[in-house]
Amino acid sequence: METQPFWLEESRPAVATRDLDHVDIAVVGAGITGCACAGALAREGRRVRVYDARGIGEGASGRNGGFALRGAAARYDVARETYGADAARELWRRTEETVDRLATIAGDAFRRTGSLRLAADVEERVEIQGEYEALRDDGFAAEWREELSHLRPDFRGAIFHPRDGAVQPAGLVQRLADLAAEAGVAFAPHHRIESLENVEADQIVIATDGSGRGLLPELDEALWPARGQVIATTPLRERLFECPHYARHGFDYWQQLRDRRIVLGGFRDFSILTEMTDDESTTEPIQEALDAFLVELLGELPEVTHRWAGIFGLTQDLLPLVGPVPGHDGVWVAAGYSGHGNVLGLLCGELVAGALLGRDDPLSQLFSPARLVQHV
Ligand SMILES: Cc1cc2nc3c(=O)[nH]c(=O)nc-3n(C[C@H](O)[C@H](O)[C@H](O)COP(=O)(O)OP(=O)(O)OC[C@H]3O[C@@H](n4cnc5c(N)ncnc54)[C@H](O)[C@@H]3O)c2cc1C
Repeated sequence: METQPFWLEESRPAVATRDLDHVDIAVVGAGITGCACAGALAREGRRVRVYDARGIGEGASGRNGGFALRGAAARYDVARETYGADAARELWRRTEETVDRLATIAGDAFRRTGSLRLAADVEERVEIQGEYEALRDDGFAAEWREELSHLRPDFRGAIFHPRDGAVQPAGLVQRLADLAAEAGVAFAPHHRIESLENVEADQIVIATDGSGRGLLPELDEALWPARGQVIATTPLRERLFECPHYARHGFDYWQQLRDRRIVLGGFRDFSILTEMTDDESTTEPIQEALDAFLVELLGELPEVTHRWAGIFGLTQDLLPLVGPVPGHDGVWVAAGYSGHGNVLGLLCGELVAGALLGRDDPLSQLFSPARLVQHV
């Protein structure tokens, strides 16, 4: 049984090392965010080094469910109410553009499959109907699906999002790291930053999502680590799922890969308090819940070949923090995608690079770290 993610076994990101004496900008974290940010800065002529305590892409970016979805962690109708109609529309529009960009960057690590958001019960059906109507009202492509006979257990309707897709996330990181390296970025893997004081650079970008505890106390208050657990099976005989599926408010998610193996994650809410942690271990209760759900879904338990966990960053309003960290001149952050970071990580890595270069963006205010980070 493998305890490392299937993705990293299939494709472990690596780039040739390069020396740079002095850098203008240090990026902490070599996941989707850090690699996207570093590449964008280097293409504008900045000298950049990316540090990571582990190998490239070995954090959440190499451990996730492989869903590439538009939007953010909140439902679209809820986002309209919470963040404002204009802000929600802009956010969804930009994430749709970013899915297209991700598709171009990722190449064959991306498949444009669409995604299916399922209602597990009548209550959730009413909720996702609200989301479907809000999306259609604002001109976003979405299809209502009533016919779900390919699925066990019974679900109560679904939204099909036609422009979403499935990504091999470690493959995406590899492509982003290659682009960054080509633009001149130096990578320092297996180099933990213990204190920002020791980082020699004019500016620092923190791109650690849920795993950067201890770098700045203010960020520790605003970014809460959460653990997600995932399993992968041996390839099945049949193709049962054409696209990523998710249910119970996104708590449960699964997809079938090209080779017909299933990747299934979720059930964090079965033990929600113990899963608010940055300890990257799997646990019996969640792993058992994943196995039991596989049996419900498939009628039998296929061989499970990989079991792993990963850590992502949650925020109070489910939106990331992107921009300058209040009270720390020259320190920037892009993190806290609340479990939705494959597309948002790419968007926000490039967004924070733009902010650092002095560019304003309509999303800057929505994602401003000052809304959640108290200057202590
Ligand atoms: C189980 C799971 C399933 C998920 N499923 C999905 C999904 O299907 N779709 C989706 O969109 N999102 C999903 N997510 C969320 C998504 O994976 C993350 O939001 C995204 O990968 C964040 O990328 P990142 O580059 O910001 O952070 P990460 O990929 O976590 O990278 C942060 C890096 O910072 C490094 N680091 C931390 N502290 C230090 C330090 N002091 N010094 C040096 N380096 C440091 C870490 O080693 C790590 O490599 C999931 C997350 C998990 C855990």
